[in-house]
Amino acid sequence: MSTITKRVLLTFSGSISGKPIVSELVRKYDLEINIYRASITPNAEGHMAIDVTGEEDMVTNGLKFIEKNDVNVSRTMNSLAWNEEKCVSCGNCLSHCPTEALYIANEASREVRFDGEKCIACMSCVRNCPFGACTSLF
Ligand code: SF4
Ligand code: SF4
Repeated sequence: MSTITKRVLLTFSGSISGKPIVSELVRKYDLEINIYRASITPNAEGHMAIDVTGEEDMVTNGLKFIEKNDVNVSRTMNSLAWNEEKCVSCGNCLSHCPTEALYIANEASREVRFDGEKCIACMSCVRNCPFGACTSLF
């Protein structure tokens, strides 16, 4: 069985914000959790952007476990929203993005694009985009 890493965004309601659901992933499913960003307030909706690493079936079962506990698990989006219409491809963000999630897609036109798979939600681009094309979802 191979070891895999999945990047997910967890969204949970205020009623379960105090429950140790993420630590259960470590304990019950032997997973490593790398938290990129978290916004947790008692009794309010919370968010957590994490990488989950472990044996493939344990990752799958662990994510199913937290979904059963009323946590929404989004596998495709992260906590950064990039607005293509607002982006003018000025390039200011490129040197601030540590993973090249923001990149030049076309050398001739110098068009900038966003690859959500590479984004680690450091939010450096949010601080460095003069046009408001990068915003934090939480
Ligand atoms: S949040 Fe960080 S990693 Fe993601 S696109 Fe912005 S600068 Fe790059
Ligand atoms: S700084 Fe903002 S407008 Fe400029 S390329 Fe990056 S995302 Fe686009």
